[in-house]
Amino acid sequence: MSDIIQLLPDSVANQIAAGEVVQRPASAVKELLENAIDAGATDLCLIIKNAGKTLIQVIDNGKGMSPTDARMAFERHATSKIKSASDLFALRTMGFRGEALASIAAISQVELKTKQADQDLGTCIVIEGSVVDSQEACSTQSGTNLSVKNLFFNVPARRNFLKSNPVETKHIIEEFYRVAMVHPEISFQFHSEGNELFNLPKGSFRQRIVSIFGDKYNQRLVPVEEETDIVSISGFVGKPEYAKKTRGEQYFFVNERFIKSPYLNHAIQIAFDELITKDQHPSYFLKLEIDPARIDINIHPTKTEIKFEDERSIYAIIRTSVKQALGKYNIAPSLDFEQ
Ligand code: ADP
Ligand code: MG
Repeated sequence: MSDIIQLLPDSVANQIAAGEVVQRPASAVKELLENAIDAGATDLCLIIKNAGKTLIQVIDNGKGMSPTDARMAFERHATSKIKSASDLFALRTMGFRGEALASIAAISQVELKTKQADQDLGTCIVIEGSVVDSQEACSTQSGTNLSVKNLFFNVPARRNFLKSNPVETKHIIEEFYRVAMVHPEISFQFHSEGNELFNLPKGSFRQRIVSIFGDKYNQRLVPVEEETDIVSISGFVGKPEYAKKTRGEQYFFVNERFIKSPYLNHAIQIAFDELITKDQHPSYFLKLEIDPARIDINIHPTKTEIKFEDERSIYAIIRTSVKQALGKYNIAPSLDFEQ
């Protein structure tokens, strides 16, 4: 009789986990942007080359990491954001699973420079496929500068299944929208192949939507506001006359996290009722604030699907508040809602 079960080496376990967390360059972009936000950055710069396949770089002015933390950050299940399972019910950070950097480092070549504001020198780490090549003291600006090079260099199957550059870039831009939109208090720059795609100044939520989608949106937005015991809603829906045949700009954020919810989408579609035809889709940019104890974010590694304790009530509140907002707009469509 011989025993045959072994624990997988970390590098292999990380590569398997990476399959779930990092599907394409856009997933790595999302994780790096969220880390910068969790670090308290107020200025953020995203740089990509070759649709993120060759380079994804995020430079932030957040709190940086100590040399030991910088090394620890790449361990699996290593996080500064939760300490116990009960913390999951009071979550305010974007990350908490402690697996993004470990996953990304397992399938790429990572260069990290990071410095805390009160230190003279920072630390610089080079990692390739989970193996640390070097770590040394270096001079760098306060905050974190993380480059992910040659994503999937050691996973040819994944690399070969990546789509064309325009398609992968489109996915990255969509992730960028989802993060940048709900953080108008942070300035964002985005460069691709040396060209500036976006330069978003700090401002209000409304200004951020307009600077992403263009000045014409200033005339299109109807404000939605509602406050109840279980949810606060704020944001905008697009005027009915701008509803599209294709799914356009539809954004739900729960506690500043973009989420997908066909169920809540339906609540809005119903609220528009006779104002649009069945094959038209309204645009919306809605922020929901809900007690973190009443939602579960931990149902999928990418965290874009969540569970609500009060799903039905939230549905009803959204439907009513959007209907009311549209009603006000209909009674006085010429009213200028700009604030
Ligand atoms: P998580 O975000 O779930 O904690 P990650 O693997 O994304 O896991 O990051 C691990 C840890 O590394 C974080 O908890 C944080 O302490 C640190 N970290 C990652 N990115 C940054 C950053 N840009 N600035 C400061 N600290 C960071
Ligand atoms: Mg993270």
